[in-house]
Amino acid sequence: MTPDDLLRLDRRHVWHPFTQAATAPEPPLVVSGQGTELVAADGSVILDLISSWWVTLHGHAHPAVVQAVAEQAAKLEQVIFAGFTHEPAARLAARICGLLPDPLNRVFFSDNGSTAVEVALKAALQCHRNQGDTARTRYLAFDGGYHGDTVGAMSAGVSSHYFDAWREMLFPVDILPVPATWLDDPDVEAKEAAALEALDSHLAAHGGHTVAAIIEPLVQGAIGMHMHSPQWLRAVVERLKAAGVLVIFDEVMTGFGRTGSLFACLEVGATPDFVCLSKGLTGGFLPMSLTVTTDAVHDAFLGDGVDKAFLHGHSFTANPLGCAAALASLDLLDTPACAARRAGIEAHHRAALAELAAHPRVARPRVRGTVAAFDVEAGDSGYASAVAPRLRESFSRDGLLLRPLGNVVYLLPPYCVTDAELDRATVGIRRALDTL
Ligand code: PMP
Repeated sequence: MTPDDLLRLDRRHVWHPFTQAATAPEPPLVVSGQGTELVAADGSVILDLISSWWVTLHGHAHPAVVQAVAEQAAKLEQVIFAGFTHEPAARLAARICGLLPDPLNRVFFSDNGSTAVEVALKAALQCHRNQGDTARTRYLAFDGGYHGDTVGAMSAGVSSHYFDAWREMLFPVDILPVPATWLDDPDVEAKEAAALEALDSHLAAHGGHTVAAIIEPLVQGAIGMHMHSPQWLRAVVERLKAAGVLVIFDEVMTGFGRTGSLFACLEVGATPDFVCLSKGLTGGFLPMSLTVTTDAVHDAFLGDGVDKAFLHGHSFTANPLGCAAALASLDLLDTPACAARRAGIEAHHRAALAELAAHPRVARPRVRGTVAAFDVEAGDSGYASAVAPRLRESFSRDGLLLRPLGNVVYLLPPYCVTDAELDRATVGIRRALDTL
């Protein structure tokens, strides 16, 4: 079949995510990927600066992960995970718990970031119930948070405004402010104090009725890479725990080194009751997620009958191929060389943003670890901003995969990216800004 035939089939039969099919340009037909590069059927090469929706950790088709998946596929590709187990799952669970702080010692497997969140939200409610506390029925989330596209995750993410089409389906969630800050922001202290005050008064009124609070730690991704300080979040976690509210860190994006250290919770210095992981978990090879929790939460589900058990699971729970990919990816991630490269990416981001900040369209530059972002000042803001398609067109002409979140331009590259490739991105970004 020719590329044109395939694109015709795509146009006729495929429904793409987050896409207005009536106006979207024809998608590149990607035939292969290697490292930071994607190759399209017409021979064009695209530099992937967003890790293909934040999943590709060490680059496309990394040979170590390829080999691990191939070997596992020839041995055991899938087995029911209720009443059965297998080596890659047991090893992966133990490995992840070894990287996270105590007492995060229990891993529940599912398939994507949304289900990891859904599991945490459900397990938190049942945990309280199993312990005889039925007064806790409310959930708490933070302004602009995005947690995925299933109903619980959408409810928690209502303030991101991605879900306005489904308001009638969602359950109510209390939303509190987040002190979003940027480089050289003069108002950090005042914003943080105001947000803590709002939390204190909310907890005084509703702390005893709240099941759990969910937050994207350090970087709120989909709303536009909004960043807050570890100190503020540590103070939040302390207050929530004192009120008996279970704390869920949605590290679906921040996990696996994106914020610098291996997990954001290690930088925050406070241990949540749940950590949700996905995206980079398998190095970006296969869909899989983990909801990691404490022994105390896990043990609340023990009893004689199934009534206290967590009756939740998915067909592909703990798929052995995903587990094998994750183990191989962790071997690459948990090395001094990878940590050094992440630090190198951060240093490059800081230098590039210092330069771009002089552009009249650039505002609120911010960096945390390997994530860099800024707002484009060109009239409107938000996900529907008219500048997004114009910027994307310019990036696409330059062979750069960058997908602004509305008027927010961000970089979230695979860790194999070179300084020269990041320089190319800076040149392309400046060119795109000049077209506005
Ligand atoms: N949580 C966060 C913080 C995310 O960024 C995302 C996806 N962008 C999700 C949850 C949902 O993950 P998935 O798309 O894999 O369901």
